[in-house]
Amino acid sequence: MEPILVVGHKNPDNDSISSVVAYTAFKNALALREHEANPDTELQEYKAVCLGPLPAESAWVLEQNGFEAPCLIDHVEPGQKIILVDHNEMQQAVDGIEEAEILEVVDHHRIGSFSTSKPIQFITMPWGCSATIVTALYRMYDVEISQQMAAVLLSAILTDTVILKSPTATETDRATIDYLAGIAGVDFRDFGVSLFDCRGGEDKMDIDTLVCADSKEFPVGDDMILIAQRETVSPAKVLAREEEMRAHLRSLVEKNNYQFALLLVTDIMEEGSFFIVEGDDALVQKVFGVTGKSKGGDWKAGVLSRKKQVAAPILGA
Ligand code: MN
Ligand code: MN
Repeated sequence: MEPILVVGHKNPDNDSISSVVAYTAFKNALALREHEANPDTELQEYKAVCLGPLPAESAWVLEQNGFEAPCLIDHVEPGQKIILVDHNEMQQAVDGIEEAEILEVVDHHRIGSFSTSKPIQFITMPWGCSATIVTALYRMYDVEISQQMAAVLLSAILTDTVILKSPTATETDRATIDYLAGIAGVDFRDFGVSLFDCRGGEDKMDIDTLVCADSKEFPVGDDMILIAQRETVSPAKVLAREEEMRAHLRSLVEKNNYQFALLLVTDIMEEGSFFIVEGDDALVQKVFGVTGKSKGGDWKAGVLSRKKQVAAPILGA
């Protein structure tokens, strides 16, 4: 019997890898249960596949816990039986999907234009992560979640919900994180920071990427200003490069004639930002009561949104 493929979306994130690994194991456990109850029937095999390279945190969490990475594929053959995880829109799905047979969907995104010729199992919940749904299915069908599998599932919920800081995180995600962290035997915050650290490289990336990867110019009167933001779970690593970052901001101010350049180093976990300013700090001082010139930056608790909490009041002043 041909294996049934379990696949996440193109350009996979950690949820599209970890939920696929977990759901494949779940389906194989149910198939084995069924086969043992009816030994005459053939054992159905499910196989985890993916459509792109593994994100760094997925590679790490799978390796740490002794799981094989899903097999990389770039299309499916006509008639191939597949299960879609973490997506339901055809543009995000594997090439050849039009001719494949979709058996199931497990997802937490909006429903696009989805239709099938036969009835299928279509499971979606408006939760923060597909892995939250997969965990619920393990529990509903009484399939044991090992310590290793708990870590894999937990990793997906932590990355999809940005360690519960994302507005997409629900009470169900929160409760599921507590449940899985208990099985995995980890502190979910520490574990989450380790996951985001895998992406890391903030200590090594080139200075323009570090400062300007997410930066926007705004007009203020006749002048322009630059507001850049670096969201991080490791602010110490970023701030260790303060002198370099300030020199880069100064060069941008000179080159582009900005009134000032403001870099927000936003600590996702502590929920606030360090203000680092080069150029004329008068406007920043007027609006925020800090200069952004202090060594280590000036900390403003609660400031997370550049658009709403920083750019808007500065432009309004
Ligand atoms: Mn995803
Ligand atoms: Mn997801």
